Amino acid sequence: MSKTDGKAPDLQAALAAWREAVGEAHVILDPEALEAAETATFATTQRIPAIVRPADTAQVQACLRIASEHRVPVYPVSAGRNWGYGSRVPPGDGSVLLDLGRMNRILAHDEQLAYLTVEPGVTFRQAYAYLRDKGSSTFITTIGGSPDASMVGNALERGDGAGPNADIFQNVCALEAVLPTGERVETGHARFPGARSAPVFRWGLGPVLDGLFSQSSLGVVTRMTFWLARKQPWLRDFFCAVNDDAQLWDMVDRLQALALDGTLKGSFFFWNDIKAYSITQQFPYPSVGRAPLPDWAREKLREGFGRWAISGTLIAPDAELGALLEKRLARAVEGAFRPLSFGPVAPFGEGTLQGVPTETNLAMTYWRKRTPKPEDPHPDRDRCGFIWCSVAVPFTGPEAKRATDIADRVPRLFGFEPNLALLAHSPRCVYLVTALAYDRDVRGEDARAQACYRALSRELADAGYYLTRAGLQAQDAAPPVKDDSAQVRQRLKAAFDPEGILAPGRSEP
Ligand SMILES: Cc1cc2nc3c(=O)[nH]c(=O)nc-3n(C[C@H](O)[C@H](O)[C@H](O)COP(=O)(O)OP(=O)(O)OC[C@H]3O[C@@H](n4cnc5c(N)ncnc54)[C@H](O)[C@@H]3O)c2cc1C
Repeated sequence: MSKTDGKAPDLQAALAAWREAVGEAHVILDPEALEAAETATFATTQRIPAIVRPADTAQVQACLRIASEHRVPVYPVSAGRNWGYGSRVPPGDGSVLLDLGRMNRILAHDEQLAYLTVEPGVTFRQAYAYLRDKGSSTFITTIGGSPDASMVGNALERGDGAGPNADIFQNVCALEAVLPTGERVETGHARFPGARSAPVFRWGLGPVLDGLFSQSSLGVVTRMTFWLARKQPWLRDFFCAVNDDAQLWDMVDRLQALALDGTLKGSFFFWNDIKAYSITQQFPYPSVGRAPLPDWAREKLREGFGRWAISGTLIAPDAELGALLEKRLARAVEGAFRPLSFGPVAPFGEGTLQGVPTETNLAMTYWRKRTPKPEDPHPDRDRCGFIWCSVAVPFTGPEAKRATDIADRVPRLFGFEPNLALLAHSPRCVYLVTALAYDRDVRGEDARAQACYRALSRELADAGYYLTRAGLQAQDAAPPVKDDSAQVRQRLKAAFDPEGILAPGRSEP
């Protein structure tokens, strides 16, 4: 039984206590700021009564104790750029936003051991600039999302990046988390005084708790160490395209073999024509009239490009080994519609695959807008409709085909272009990522996109392909489970959060 059993939520008392804890200026009630925070890239109804901005771990502890004491729900965001998954909007109505953006200090960097320890407000842009200014030979893993997204927020959602450490959560350790009770927990060896290996040894001693704080509502993470990759002595981007589906699935098998034998060490991607256009141009309204894109227009856009592009990076310790890798790759993609080409050799080069954040991919969110993408893209503000659906697929040609056939068909049934990518997550697994891009200013589109998401995620689950990440759009569409995990997770939630104040309503406790 909780300490405050039977007590009604008291927002006014909580606000007064938060003002005391973090300072008047950091408890925000401005209606414009609240309305902006209530806006995502798809329809939401949740209201946010206030935004509270703690400055350090002690203030986060105080804020959560106050929330528990007065039974006021809170929802943490680190940078709030969770575009396509719900942005800053909490899963439950009436949750106060716990905005961790002020906690933006880089706490430690070790060049030789290649790690960076940060607070949750540190963005990809900030970490990149920090390492560049230090002349570091290491780099962070970047993502296709906003450079102003949070490294911690992204890692907690188990985001996917580009480069050698593409599975981001696989390359973090030594978390510090504050529980809803206000208790502070450190993971791995970080919990021991003076532990010198805390930032370099993930497992520690005993059960590994890191995973409990990712994609969950069990704690607020206030510190995390990221393992960095070394800039590569020899690096070459590659690109080719296929026009024939049978050839594509064959190449999925061949490139999987190259990932397993170590030829392809970094991330690589298969992306369809729609994804490519939507990054480089907007919907061709002048020539086509209205959405969706008719087949003839898609064929025309596709001319010379091909149906699927394949791109990635080869990395090697020297040019001799690099040349060998080039040969192996060339053999695997022989006969491609657009033959294999390489970028210039970039010794210790720069680029997205070596940690340089870019806004290029954000253009996708403006695909169906009639107004051009602005200099400072912000899809929430500009009413871009955008929903991600990402599922895990075994890395074989037949499995990729089976899942992709669904993701290619369902969006078209609802009047959306299938915007698809297969991301090599590991030599064993690809993420099939579908983007639904639309214009929120077109009447009925919000509802249609949500219906499409539900149909797509359900059909993929029925075929055995489940979500890698559940945003707000998945809230009422969680697939059923076949074991006792739901009850066990509920018990964990009750133990960590007896008052149920942290992100109530999140589909995973
Ligand atoms: C065009 C486009 C391309 C994208 N490409 C990618 C990509 O390549 N890879 C990728 O992974 N994503 C991608 N995204 C999705 C998304 O933008 C990123 O994942 C982004 O990093 C999430 O925003 P954030 O880091 O600011 O996290 P936040 O919005 O701060 O938080 C994300 C989630 O984590 C929780 N959370 C945040 N901080 C904490 C904390 N400290 N403690 C506990 N819980 C917390 C929040 O409650 C929220 O549910 C893309 C989006 C778009 C629109």
